[in-house]
Amino acid sequence: MICRLLIFLLLLTQVGCHGIHLREQRSGVELIVLGIAQDGGVPHLGCQKPCCVSARRDGIRLGPACLALVDHSTGKTVLIEATPTIEEQLSLLRDLTGHANEGRRPIDTLLLTHAHIGHYTGLIQLGREVASTDAVKVHCTSRMASFLRENGPWSQLVQLDQIDLQVVEKGQPVEIFPGVTATAYGVQHRDEFSDTVAWRIEGPKRTVVFCPDIDGWQDGALDLLIDGADLCYLDATFYDGRELPGRDLSEIPHPPMVVTMDHLADEAREGPDRFRFIHLNHTNPALRDGAVRAEVKRRGFSVAEVGESYFLD
Ligand SMILES: [Zn+2]
Ligand SMILES: [Zn+2]
Repeated sequence: MICRLLIFLLLLTQVGCHGIHLREQRSGVELIVLGIAQDGGVPHLGCQKPCCVSARRDGIRLGPACLALVDHSTGKTVLIEATPTIEEQLSLLRDLTGHANEGRRPIDTLLLTHAHIGHYTGLIQLGREVASTDAVKVHCTSRMASFLRENGPWSQLVQLDQIDLQVVEKGQPVEIFPGVTATAYGVQHRDEFSDTVAWRIEGPKRTVVFCPDIDGWQDGALDLLIDGADLCYLDATFYDGRELPGRDLSEIPHPPMVVTMDHLADEAREGPDRFRFIHLNHTNPALRDGAVRAEVKRRGFSVAEVGESYFLD
């Protein structure tokens, strides 16, 4: 426990600690950020650049993008994404909120965006060799559900009723807590094994959008996603392309943060803190470069922070 808290404190030292709300409210539905990195996390396997060498040296670990929702009135929990660091992220959730279930129900419900490793492979921990969960509800698209149903080891989770697949229709809200809905929006992305969605969570008073992976904003996806949303967690895999020297920025299948900030300049001026960047690649300078972080803030945007939280009512 002490070790975990120490790592968490180190991590806060690294990324700053300016949560939107610091859990002063103990009722209602709370959203908590449990991970902000791209699929491979920080440090990243095989990376010997200063970003990951220093992270290893300093004991800094950042898990892949992940949000949790807790209904404080019932103690029920929802996780958006099952990342490879699901155990650490659920432990952090317990440390931060006092909630996180136990035994065969470490989580009540999961929402998945797509079948890339940082977003769903934590499901492996739900299987026979580890938690052997009891019918955890997994909301995902029909293509994602087919992928899980038809391919091992995920198929065994279905056969043993360790997960209970709930196929969602894009654009159709499903109730995840009383008075709180989740709606999947289809987005363009590298769809080898599944299609990809962003999630829109609508609470009694506030709405949050989570879009960790998208090819770009060319088709008007951004306007649709942010419409009426109070808080938007947006794909920030790369900052401005400096992370990939020699590559043409227009060929990178993610909207660079600088492009997103250009698109949303007017809206960001009206509501600072509304747009929060998530899913940062280990090389993204916005994780650690003070000048870059100051520029993001100056433009009215923020990099999401592990542990930040927001109430939906
Ligand atoms: Zn990803
Ligand atoms: Zn690295």
